[in-house]
Amino acid sequence: MTRGLLIVISGASGTGKGTVCKKILSDLPAVAYSISATTRAPRPGEVDGREYYFLSVEEFKAWIADEKFLEYAQVYGNFYGTPLNKIEERLNRGEDILLEIDVQGALNVKRKCPEGIYIFLLPPSLEELKRRIEGRGTETPESLSRRLKNAVAEIKVGPEYDYVVVNDTIENAAEKIKTILSAERLKVARNTDKFNLGEDFE
Ligand code: ADP
Ligand code: 5GP
Repeated sequence: MTRGLLIVISGASGTGKGTVCKKILSDLPAVAYSISATTRAPRPGEVDGREYYFLSVEEFKAWIADEKFLEYAQVYGNFYGTPLNKIEERLNRGEDILLEIDVQGALNVKRKCPEGIYIFLLPPSLEELKRRIEGRGTETPESLSRRLKNAVAEIKVGPEYDYVVVNDTIENAAEKIKTILSAERLKVARNTDKFNLGEDFE
C-alpha cells in the first residue's frame, strides 16, 4: 500500500490559500482536509467543524495538555493548531491529507515529517495582497496593517519550502498544485514496491 501524501500549504493571510485549497479539494475528492482548531472568532459563513474547530482559549490549552496537536502556533494573537486526529494512521491507509497552516506550524511539521510536500503560495504582488484582504472585508484597519506587515516576514520563510506557486488566478494555482501532486505520486521513493520484479507494475 502506497502511503498517502502529507500536503502542507502556507502563504501570507489573504493570498488565497483557503480559496485555492477549496478548489483542489473539490477537484480531488480523495484528498482529505485537516480541519484546524483555533481560538479566533468565526467569520461570517464559517461553520464550526467545517473551516475550523472554534475553541475557547481554555479548551485550546486543554487540547495542548492532552497532546492532541501535531503542531500549534500563535498567529495574530490567536491560537491555531493541527489536531493529530490519527494523521499517521490515515497516511498509512493511503489517504492524502492537506494542511493549510502558517509558516511556524509548517516548519514544525517539516521537522517531524520531512517526507511531506511543502508548498508556498505567493500573491502576484503585495499591492494585490492588500486588495484581496480588503476585498474579503473581514479585517479592521489595525488587523489589515498587521497582516500586511506579517506577510513580508512570512514570505521571507518561503525559501524553506519545496515548491512555490503564484496565485494569479485560482484555476492556474490549483492546476499547478495538482501537477506537483501528480509528480510527487510518481517519485521512486514513494513507489519502491513497484520494483519487486515478478509483480505487475500497476
Ligand atoms: P487566505 O486563506 O490566504 O487568507 P482567502 O482564500 O480568504 O485567503 O482569499 C482572500 C481573498 O482573496 C478572498 O476574498 C478571495 O475571494 C480572494 N482571492 C483568492 N484567490 C484569488 C485570485 N486568484 N484572484 C483574485 N482574488 C482571489
Ligand atoms: P485565518 O485567521 O486567516 O483563517 O488564518 C490565519 C493564519 O493561521 C493563516 O496563515 C493560516 O494558514 C494559519 N493557520 C490555520 N490553521 C492553522 C494551524 O492549524 N496551525 C498553524 N500553525 N497555523 C494555522
